[in-house]
Amino acid sequence: TAQVIDGTAVARQVREDVAKGVQELLAAGGTAPGLATVLIGDDPASEVYVRNKRKLCVAAGMQDLHRHLPGDVGQEEAAALIDELAADPAVSGILLQLPVPKHLDSEALLARIPAEKDVDGLTAANAGLLAQGRPGLRPCTPSGVMVLLDEAGVSLQGAEAVVVGRSVLVGKPMAQLLLERNATVTICHSRTRDLAEVCRRADVLVVAAGIPGLVGADAVKPGATVIDVGIHRGENGLHGDVDTAAVAEVAGSITPVPGGVGPMTIAMLLANTLEAAKVQQGRGD
Ligand code: NAD
Repeated sequence: TAQVIDGTAVARQVREDVAKGVQELLAAGGTAPGLATVLIGDDPASEVYVRNKRKLCVAAGMQDLHRHLPGDVGQEEAAALIDELAADPAVSGILLQLPVPKHLDSEALLARIPAEKDVDGLTAANAGLLAQGRPGLRPCTPSGVMVLLDEAGVSLQGAEAVVVGRSVLVGKPMAQLLLERNATVTICHSRTRDLAEVCRRADVLVVAAGIPGLVGADAVKPGATVIDVGIHRGENGLHGDVDTAAVAEVAGSITPVPGGVGPMTIAMLLANTLEAAKVQQGRGD
């Protein structure tokens, strides 16, 4: 059966490396990176996500510069907060927790985040840099997947990679990051004909479709590496987009849910915040 890729352990290692990087930055005369999480309203799931981000930010030695706005805040007031954080030199990274309340225009708010403080990698500027293969801040979930693949020793050069999903948040940047590493990349989506047949080509299969159990054993080539990005809260815990038990009989290695891609996302957010701070302090590499 497939080897399990331990995202919890890799994420812990990434966070330790970030904490070390923060100490090195301080020792070199720099200032501690500051992460401004922005939460608008009080959606309980968003509150949990933001609380975790803040906790791990502090644990890595960074400043927690959290801001909370009431759910009925106007577009202009929300925009003014982003502008204030954009201008504040103590703020290395700005993370607007999505989704924002329906009456607000999230794209217009994201567009006010300067590219160098866009630690979620979601602005058009950073998406464009990624598309052009130029340096920039990358979206956290797909860059976390890349770290998992590297830690698992998966070779990407010339490999057949199939990404299921084409969202701006996950699928599209995932495909671009794999392409950057010279994989032969195929992107599947909701209108793809015969998904299982296309997936069976993959040496590396990344599934981010948001449909529980979408990918079964019939969609997996023997020995393939399967990365499950999906997160679904069921009655008996969290599940992914992959039928893990069945696929584990066929795949060479697989990420579990929970404990796979999930913990990597926050770890990469912290890594991006450190990187942003270093660039802003003239210590980037
Ligand atoms: P999304 O809904 O924005 O995009 C889903 C994509 O899947 C779309 O591009 C769609 O075309 C494709 N799709 C839908 N049905 C399909 C089908 N039957 N066959 C093939 N493709 C299909 O979702 P998203 O934001 O990309 O997130 C995907 C999943 O990943 C969700 O379960 C989400 O909760 C999870 N997620 C996890 C993390 C993490 O940290 N682990 C981060 C972000 C998202």
